[in-house]
Amino acid sequence: IEERFDAIVVGAGPSGNAAAYTMAKEGLKVLQLERGEYPGSKNVQGAILYANALEKLIPDFREDAPLERHIIEQRIWTMDDKSYVGMHYRSEDFNEERPNRYTIIRAQFDKWFSRKVREAGATLLCETTVKELLRDAKGKVIGVRTDRDNGVAFADVVILGEGVNGLVGQRSGLRSELKPDSVALAVKEMHFLPREVIESRFNLKDNEGVVIEAMGTITAGMTGTAFLYTNQESISVGIGCIVSDFAENGATPYGLLEAFKNHPSIKPLLANSECKEYAAHLIPEGGYNSIPELYGDGWIVVGDAGQFVNAVHREGSNLAMTTGRIAGETVVWLKRRREELSKANLAEYKRRLDETFVMKDLKKYRRIPAFLHNNKHVFGLYPKLVAAAAQTWFRVDGADKLSKEKEILKSFRKGRTLSGLIGDAFKLARSWR
Ligand code: FAD
Repeated sequence: IEERFDAIVVGAGPSGNAAAYTMAKEGLKVLQLERGEYPGSKNVQGAILYANALEKLIPDFREDAPLERHIIEQRIWTMDDKSYVGMHYRSEDFNEERPNRYTIIRAQFDKWFSRKVREAGATLLCETTVKELLRDAKGKVIGVRTDRDNGVAFADVVILGEGVNGLVGQRSGLRSELKPDSVALAVKEMHFLPREVIESRFNLKDNEGVVIEAMGTITAGMTGTAFLYTNQESISVGIGCIVSDFAENGATPYGLLEAFKNHPSIKPLLANSECKEYAAHLIPEGGYNSIPELYGDGWIVVGDAGQFVNAVHREGSNLAMTTGRIAGETVVWLKRRREELSKANLAEYKRRLDETFVMKDLKKYRRIPAFLHNNKHVFGLYPKLVAAAAQTWFRVDGADKLSKEKEILKSFRKGRTLSGLIGDAFKLARSWR
C-alpha cells in the first residue's frame, strides 16, 4: 500500500467513519485503516445512538441503518442494596416521525456505517494496524506505517480516530499516556429474550424502547454508573467505574456487574434471558481538562482518542461523529483553498469545534470529574440516605408526618454534618455551572 492519498483515517469507529465519509463524499482520495477483522468487531458501546449527529452526515439514515428501538422512556435511578429511587420520563412526543435517540448494536451499526463510507468512495483496509506515524525532515506527519509487509502509505493529513487507548498518538509523542483517574473500565453483557417478553416487561409496543441509567451503592463506593437498555430482542446491561478506583477498592468489574444483575430491581427485568455476549472496554471520562493536543503539522485527533466523551450525559458516539465530521470538513475546506495542512491552518478544526455543543458541553462540565472523584458520598452515603428517606416517607406506620420529616432530617444530619451537606451542595452547584 505504498500509495499517496489526500487523507488517511486511522480507525473505523464512529469518529473515523464520520471523517472518512465527509472527505470521500467531497471527492477526496481517502484511505481508512482498521485493525479489526471488520468495522465494529473491536467496538463496545451501550448503546444509544443520538440521531442528530448522524443526521448531519446521512440525513436519510433511518431508511436502512440497523436501529433497534427508539427511546420513549428514560429512567434515572439512585440505588441502595434493596431499592431504587427513580425519576422516569416517558412521552408520546418521542414517538415522533424522526425519533432523536435509538438503541443500536455496535457491531451491526459500524458495518452499516462503513458500507456508507465505502459507497462514498473511501478505500477501507481491515486487519491492518497502524504502528506509527511517518514524518518528513521538518517533523510534519506525511503518512503511516502499518503491520502489513511494506505497509506504508502517504497522505497530506492523518486523522487519528483510533479510540480511547490512542496508542499511535502516544507512540508518536502527540499525547501522553491515559491517566487511571480519568478513564473508566466498563463491562457489558447482552441478554436475549423474545421480543414480546421485552415489550410486556417494559410496557412497550412496536419499536419503542426504555433505557435505565443507575448510580449508587451498586458501584461499591467507586465513581461510576450502570445501565440497562432495551433492544429489539435483547437487553444490554453494563456497569463501569474509574480505573484508579478499581485499583484502590479491589472490586472487580465482573463482580459489580453480577451484583447489579442480581439487584432485586434488575433481576426480574432479565429473568429467563440468555446471556450471549460479554465485553469490556475503556471510556475516557476525564472531560475538558484531559483533552490532548488536537492537531499539528499533518495530523488531527477525533473521537475518544481526543477524550471527547460527556460522561454526565453518557454521550460519546455523537461527539465522535461530530468531531470526525468537523475534522473532515476542515480538511475539505483547506484542500479547496489549496492551503497546506499545516498546524497553523489545521487550527481551523479547533476553532470550528469550539462553536459546537461538543466543546461547549465539555467546558461547562469541566469541574465534574474532579467533583465526583473527590466526593465519594455521591456513590454511597447519599443514595443510602435518599433510599432511607423514601422508605420513611412512604411507609404508613402510625407515625405522624411531622415526626417523619424530622426523622428524615435527623438521618441526613447523622450521616453528614450540616457544613458537609452545605459544602457538597455548593461544590455540586459550582461544578454544574
Ligand atoms: P472507537 O469506537 O473505539 O473506534 C476506534 C476504532 O479504531 C476501532 O474500530 C479500533 O479497532 C480502531 N483502531 C484502534 N487502534 C488502531 C490502529 N492502531 N490501527 C487501526 N485501527 C485502529 N456512547 C454513546 O454515544 N452512547 C452510549 O450509549 C454509549 N455507551 C457506551 C457503553 C460502553 C460500555 C462503552 C465502553 C462506551 C459507550 N459509549 C457510548 C462511548 C462510545 O462507544 C465512544 O465514545 C465511541 O465509540 C467513540 O468512537 P471512536 O470512533 O472515537 O472510537
